[in-house]
Amino acid sequence: MLRNLPSVEQLLKTETTARLIAQFGRPLTLDALRNTLDEIRARFKLNLEAELPSIDLILTQTESTLSAWTASTLFPVINATGVILHTNLGRAPMSAATIRAMDVVSRGYSNLEFDLETGKRGSRLIHAEKLLQKLTGAEAALVVNNCASAVLLTLSALANKKRVAIARSQLVEIGGGFRVPDVMKQSGAKLVEIGTTNKVRLSDYETALEESAALVMRAHRSNFKIVGFTEEPEFKDIVESAHKAGVPVVDDLGSGALYDTAKYGFTHEPTVQESMHAGADVILFSGDKLVGGPQAGIIIGKKALLDKIKKHPLARAVRADKACLAGVSATLTHYLKDEAEREIPIVRMMSLTPEQLKGRAEAWQAELGQGTVAKGESTVGGGSLPDESTPTFLLELQVKSAEKFLRALRKNNPPIIARTENNKILLDPRTVLPEQEGALLVGLKNLLKT
Ligand SMILES: *Cc1c(COP(=O)(O)O)cnc(C)c1O
Repeated sequence: MLRNLPSVEQLLKTETTARLIAQFGRPLTLDALRNTLDEIRARFKLNLEAELPSIDLILTQTESTLSAWTASTLFPVINATGVILHTNLGRAPMSAATIRAMDVVSRGYSNLEFDLETGKRGSRLIHAEKLLQKLTGAEAALVVNNCASAVLLTLSALANKKRVAIARSQLVEIGGGFRVPDVMKQSGAKLVEIGTTNKVRLSDYETALEESAALVMRAHRSNFKIVGFTEEPEFKDIVESAHKAGVPVVDDLGSGALYDTAKYGFTHEPTVQESMHAGADVILFSGDKLVGGPQAGIIIGKKALLDKIKKHPLARAVRADKACLAGVSATLTHYLKDEAEREIPIVRMMSLTPEQLKGRAEAWQAELGQGTVAKGESTVGGGSLPDESTPTFLLELQVKSAEKFLRALRKNNPPIIARTENNKILLDPRTVLPEQEGALLVGLKNLLKT
């Protein structure tokens, strides 16, 4: 019976195959045809099949194989969780100007490392530097792959085989297995833990400095809080003691806000400007946390130290590409022009008032003809502002099985990511981009019908 199975040559003569070749290319289509025929033979040999499939059926199977082989594994989703910087959902959506800048520079050649004045080789390090100098007042700046690599690079360049004093309460794990003490070890720095888990005093820093610490580091406790019987000196006093001993201070801010988050009803997150003001010598922060731009690690500070960091071999290993540099610059320009709240999506999301969110939740309710609008909480996430939330309004849907409904939402095209509580589905308008609202409502309507 298998002898009656069509050959690849026969299948190649069909119109469907011609269409598949036009769509997927000849080598991949041939591969898929052979793959389909092999599968049919195997099923026959195992007696799983009594009849040969038709040519149409063979070609349908070939097409789904081709679709599966070429489908992207990375695509947009709708974030209805209310977690603004959801690390698993790609952190910060980017501003229109940022996307345009990345697009323009990706399309063709650019002066990435070319000095148009002299016609000679230039440096990619200059591109975001001027903006960062203007914005923060820092002497020098460098953009690398992400903040984790900024920490590794900075410590490798400034503290290899040297003693680095850090408060025990700051030996944190950021998430995804990024542990400050491990990164310090990897850089060759010798960790000097000072203070206790809950208390560190200025005298602890002074003792470490007398015992020849070569660098003082602060790591922001981005994703947890220490409360109760605690003590920590003012950062500016730590910096003053370190400077008296001629020792520089590195401040790993992590999220690194350029604005006061208290303005939006969250607690105050340490800002880059405050760290500069306190006298930190090198400051590190992420491009895609509270800054709201592309994935990047931003290093700013004293020129002499930045020069050392820029020259270290690791700098080449963690350098930013042209799209990242263009995107970071465009995002930072919004701050310079005082238009961050209007242009940067995550800042806009933070600034939405409960009344505005209530209006959107009620519009969804009206459109769907069901659900209740109720008070809830949105969070920042992304390792920023632990335990912090801000009031929002949610659309709550009563469904038979919340788990099943969430799964169906994830299978929607585009997938919808929501939360559940007490077997209800909670949808937070804060993190749903206005241009995704239509797709969200179509998806919900279809699922509620079934
Ligand atoms: C998030 C964070 C990092 C890592 O930043 P990425 O940009 O995710 O690499 C480093 N340090 C601190 C304190 C952080 O909060």
